[in-house]
Amino acid sequence: MDISNQANLPTKFGNFIIQSFRESVAKNDGCSCDVEHLVVMTKELGAIPLVRVHSECLTGDVFSSMKCDCGDELQIAMKRISKEGGMIIYLRQEGRGIGLFNKINAYNLQDKGYDTVEANEALGFKSDNRDYTIVGKILKYFNIEKIRLLTNNPRKVEEISRFVNVERDSILATPNEYNKHYLQIKKTKLGHIL
Ligand SMILES: [Zn+2]
Repeated sequence: MDISNQANLPTKFGNFIIQSFRESVAKNDGCSCDVEHLVVMTKELGAIPLVRVHSECLTGDVFSSMKCDCGDELQIAMKRISKEGGMIIYLRQEGRGIGLFNKINAYNLQDKGYDTVEANEALGFKSDNRDYTIVGKILKYFNIEKIRLLTNNPRKVEEISRFVNVERDSILATPNEYNKHYLQIKKTKLGHIL
């Protein structure tokens, strides 16, 4: 893991410090590629830092897509963390780990009536391909042993509990007409607490 220097990042939600963690990931074809993750944190982390482990969603985070709740969740997290202290660990695992290209193909299937889980499976992927190993390394780097984790995803709580003591704090975006069905599937098929 390579670790960048820190820099200041003033945002609409407050002033943060930004730092990048680069990991070398082996791909199926045998070659490896560099994945560049990001930590966006407050100067004071607080006694029990509030942490959002956010997987990249280019369509939601940048293009304000209403198909999912990622963009809203990221903004809620930034607002709360800037007030309470903590960090966003922004993981570059797009589309629950299947990548941007495959995610767009999955969206095409969703336009034809597949739900988010069925679409991933029709393309030959698991419903959730994400890996949180790097989170353990990042939290260890900052000597963090206990966190308040902003998530509705029990699998994420379980995975990250392997590295640190986790207290769950829920994060609820307001549903809209386009993501109502998606949120329902997250609840029924992926076990999210919504
Ligand atoms: Zn999303």
